[in-house]
Amino acid sequence: GLRKDYYQSEDGREDALVMVIHPVQNAIENRRTFAIISHPDAGKTTMTEKLLLFGNAIKLAGAVKSRKTDRHAMSDWMTMEQERGISVTTSVMQFPYRGRTVNLLDTPGHEDFSEDTYRTLTAVDSALMVIDGAKGVEPRTIKLMEVCRLRDTPIITFINKLDREVRDPIEVMDEIEDILQIECAPMNWPIGMGRGLKGIYDLVNDRIIEYRQGQGHHVYEFNVIKGLASDAAKTLLGHDYADVCDEIELVRGASHTFNHEDFLKAGLTPVYFGTALGNFGVQQMLDGFATYAPPPQPRESMERLVDPGEDKFSGFVFKIQANMDPKHRDRIAFLRVCSGRYEQGMKMQHLRLGKSIRITDAVTFMAGDRTHAEEAFAGDIIGLHNHGTIQIGDTFTEGEALKFKGVPNFAPELFRRVRVKDPLRSKQLEKGITQLAEEGASQVFFPLNKNQIVVGAVGVLQFDLVAYRLQDEYRAECIWEDASIAAARWVQCEDEKMLTDFKNKNQENLAIDGGGYLTYLATSRVNLQVVTERWPDVKFTKTREH
Ligand code: GDP
Repeated sequence: GLRKDYYQSEDGREDALVMVIHPVQNAIENRRTFAIISHPDAGKTTMTEKLLLFGNAIKLAGAVKSRKTDRHAMSDWMTMEQERGISVTTSVMQFPYRGRTVNLLDTPGHEDFSEDTYRTLTAVDSALMVIDGAKGVEPRTIKLMEVCRLRDTPIITFINKLDREVRDPIEVMDEIEDILQIECAPMNWPIGMGRGLKGIYDLVNDRIIEYRQGQGHHVYEFNVIKGLASDAAKTLLGHDYADVCDEIELVRGASHTFNHEDFLKAGLTPVYFGTALGNFGVQQMLDGFATYAPPPQPRESMERLVDPGEDKFSGFVFKIQANMDPKHRDRIAFLRVCSGRYEQGMKMQHLRLGKSIRITDAVTFMAGDRTHAEEAFAGDIIGLHNHGTIQIGDTFTEGEALKFKGVPNFAPELFRRVRVKDPLRSKQLEKGITQLAEEGASQVFFPLNKNQIVVGAVGVLQFDLVAYRLQDEYRAECIWEDASIAAARWVQCEDEKMLTDFKNKNQENLAIDGGGYLTYLATSRVNLQVVTERWPDVKFTKTREH
């Protein structure tokens, strides 16, 4: 049968949401799983807080504590670890909005943990890109967009900080189109900025939403003026009226119009303007998100495409996070449900180990609901307690042998040799290094003809984290030494004879990584260039899949 759910839209219209009462199908159709991508300081934390406000997950803004750490001098690992501990529950925030169940996946703010961010992006179906209106496209935004492009993840754009003197919005959109290579379709247009911010003009519905200052901390009623041609609009805009009309005409003529299909193919992004701090324009963006963002998408496995609507449960692990409660020395493995339904107490097959396990204590993440969710559907994230048996990239199913694709390892950019301080603890050191690499905290390489262990990282802080955890969890104090390595590339070659030849001639630079894969460790950029030119039929890759 059919069921209708009504909700009040912001201009008082009653919108009907027709839902098919097939619990699983319905749950999946209404799920929206996304992450926010932005350069530090663009407003991700502020935006997250406002989204939770609309999702009724928090009562007042200010409740989401900024988990920001000093970006320059970060030596105090305890603080960071405590903060990471808190964030286990805030890593996934689920809240209801307009008949949808929204899963917002948080990503670490610090760029040294960007690998974590990249992998989190493999678990979403869309992304919200927050841009600082005064700064435009920044380096981190570019990197994160590259990652989204790997899977053609649809992007919604929010240009933030309109309450300040920002750059010309047309210029910012041009920059997004040029640098990020995605078409921009403005959904609304700012009227004024900074102190002169009057509101936004809704290009789709021809109406003005008036800006009111000082409303940042709660959900409030907007004053809506229907029609740019109305007397109310003329009164509001005063002697700017003609200029505003001209600008809007220009924008309509010069920019792309929204096209759902292009958005879903990641060729076009709807652009919303507003201020997250002032909680203005956020609801319009969220409404757009609820309307256009895709439900859980099919996922590719080595064997076949897995549809979210399939009856049988399946999912993959994209992130592992230390549980900081010292009484529980376990870690939480974050699993994205790809199909079927998770139910407390169910049995799953841990495919890499070929073991059947019963899951009784998975963590689910209902931020807005008091009742504890004991089930999860495609698009949802569940947290599994991991006592060292789960690795990033692991697949869980109800029995079918599947291996989900696309959870990448990125070639590290920093390398250090690690040595144990107390030789009696070398076994523990090796075990610790290997386990930490398995959960993605760092990467490990064992050179073929040297008795050494090389640790690779994307950011310097990862080394501090590894040292801290080796000491804290494995009682192995380590010493870092210069490794004289500039780059790592995973090596593949179809021609086995050539591969053997390559191996024999490059023993000195070859290593096996934590996953058992052959890796070339280049001593310099020049060295890397020379070897790739000398061996054109050998593939040197910067990413490898788990
Ligand atoms: P994140 O690093 O991306 O998480 O950024 P935050 O949300 O912590 O914001 C960085 C700074 O910008 C903070 O001081 C915020 O108060 C401020 N901020 C965020 N959004 C706005 C906005 O819309 N207007 C103004 N004026 N400041 C903002």
